[in-house]
Amino acid sequence: MLPLLVANWKMHKTKAEALAFIDELRRLWPDRPACEVAIAPPFTALDAVGGALRGSPIALAAQNVHEDEEGAFTGEIAARFLADLGCRYVIVGHSERRSRFGETDERIGRKLQAVIGHGMTPIWCVGESLREREAGRVLKVVGRQLAGGLGAVAPARLSWGETPPLVIAYEPVWAIGTGRIAAPRQVQEVHAVVRQWLRDRLGDAAERVRLLYGGSVTPENVAAMTAQPDVNGALVGGASLDAKQFVLLAQRMARSAASS
Ligand code: PGA
Repeated sequence: MLPLLVANWKMHKTKAEALAFIDELRRLWPDRPACEVAIAPPFTALDAVGGALRGSPIALAAQNVHEDEEGAFTGEIAARFLADLGCRYVIVGHSERRSRFGETDERIGRKLQAVIGHGMTPIWCVGESLREREAGRVLKVVGRQLAGGLGAVAPARLSWGETPPLVIAYEPVWAIGTGRIAAPRQVQEVHAVVRQWLRDRLGDAAERVRLLYGGSVTPENVAAMTAQPDVNGALVGGASLDAKQFVLLAQRMARSAASS
């Protein structure tokens, strides 16, 4: 299974800045590192970035989606609009969406359904806050998020094809944008529990669901993380904004996954 590296640009980059990044990336891109790469620009740059990536192996991703098919939802973006622009992935339930925009597990579950229903793969984010970690509630919190979100999705919908249409990103909230990365061993512990949880629901298909780590990933620490047996890639914010760093991330991730 190829590891997956996802750039989450959050609210950064105009269309021109996004295109300059893709230009630089294509210039620096080495002879196809053995990992899959996806870029999630802001909505306003999705179409332009999608066009610039056409014909390249790099996938287009969106950062968010509305759960309804269409309707009177001023300012929102439907899953079918994202599919129409050629998105392969959609980030769902990022902790910033949960904590700053009030997204609940139930709503996140509906978003997962919308994304899968339109033939795209959600990158579904889960993870505990610092308070929850200190209270020893990591597995409980992640378990609750998983059950709350996936409860809405029938296992049969995730079992088609070689690769199930689901990626899970474990992102401890206290590690996001803080420079404070979780220890690879701690991450592996959580990922192993998530994998088992998936096995109980999806059987063998669980082995083919990529589990990403996210939170202060850099070219310096990515290899230690993806060397863990159940860490199949990374969701990267800050370090994905610079093309040189991003290429380094891809190279190091590919090397560590190949040798582990
Ligand atoms: P970070 O963000 O890499 O800047 O910590 C990760 C994320 O929020 O997905």
